[in-house]
Amino acid sequence: MPSDVEEVTVDALFIPGQLQWDVELVKSLFNNRDSNEILAIPLPKSDRCDKWRWIWNSKGMYTVKSGYQYLRSFSQQVMGPSITNWKFVWGLQVLPKIRNFIWRALSDNLPTKVALIARSMDVDPLCGYCNVAEETSIHALVLCPVVKQVWISSELGLRVQSADSMVQWWNAMKRVSSTSEMEYAAALLWSNWQNRNALVWEGSSKPASTVLYRAGSAVADWQSVRAVPSAAVCSNAAAQRRWVKPNSGFVKCNVDASVFRDPAGMSFGGIVRGTNGEFIAAIQDAFVGNFPPLIAEAVGLREVLSWIKERGFASVIIESDSKLLVDAIRSDGEDFTYFGTLVDDCKALLRAISRCSIHFVFRSANCVADSLAKTANSMTGRAEWDLLCPPVIADVMMADLI
Ligand SMILES: [Zn+2]
Repeated sequence: MPSDVEEVTVDALFIPGQLQWDVELVKSLFNNRDSNEILAIPLPKSDRCDKWRWIWNSKGMYTVKSGYQYLRSFSQQVMGPSITNWKFVWGLQVLPKIRNFIWRALSDNLPTKVALIARSMDVDPLCGYCNVAEETSIHALVLCPVVKQVWISSELGLRVQSADSMVQWWNAMKRVSSTSEMEYAAALLWSNWQNRNALVWEGSSKPASTVLYRAGSAVADWQSVRAVPSAAVCSNAAAQRRWVKPNSGFVKCNVDASVFRDPAGMSFGGIVRGTNGEFIAAIQDAFVGNFPPLIAEAVGLREVLSWIKERGFASVIIESDSKLLVDAIRSDGEDFTYFGTLVDDCKALLRAISRCSIHFVFRSANCVADSLAKTANSMTGRAEWDLLCPPVIADVMMADLI
């Protein structure tokens, strides 16, 4: 490191007086890969003190339990992973068939090609997707390059990049994820296995978007069946599959984000509609950086909420198709991670907007925001519309009203 930058602190990379990365400066100092990682680190909207973060807990906080788990996993790395917390697996709020599937995957009891050969069956050991590696459980569900793409496109991203077995992967994943994230991960493992079966038995598999949709629907369906119909959770319980007009006196704002890889970046869209489904206003923008999908959803929501606040909208129903994000915003727990910082900003903005609430909806009820997010890119910059709807979403918006 040159001696003249030894004393320089991270805030030298911010635009002076603003809590924003100086994109040009970061790009001029670091290579493409590093600058994309740096630019994807979300900065808080308000000044906050630096703090230490414990990486072995999903919320970044040290607890005796997470310390104990870390030490135990450390000894497992030496002794080989064998211990699984079955009580946790059986307590997951997912469909019983998914719990059962996870139990089989973690007991190394799935009929993968390698397992069939071990039972003296005469099959080709190679994975049907890549035709390169042998098909073990960990390869078929996580490590195959084709399956990795599904994880990368999911809200969780690729948190644990390598593991020798499903147990090792599950334990590593559990250390860096909340329970609801593990429920989603369980559904995604199951959905990946359904896709693998379709390939093996029917000769064709579905695209990543279908695998993700099946996992998301499985989680939401089960939770809506189980949810207690109280005022606090009823909107979650009745998650919508189609867009519904807001009640009289309210406007509805749908929000969505999208990530792209080459060049790395994220984009978001927000659209406000009135009681008759009429267009009121919309925004889209994009940022450079290698954003994990869940962080991109949170950044997009924060930007749209600040815009709603600046515009002076009140009585707003916000809808997002990111269940993990909506659940995090509705929970009271502390979270020291980057994601937690964004969630705190979103909570503060929601409180600052009069009569504003946030709800989870299925992706099929969020098509306009999705289209708006996907048409933004880092070259075009921020765009806003008033009264006249952007032409690119006119057809999708009409479809919501039919
Ligand atoms: Zn493969």
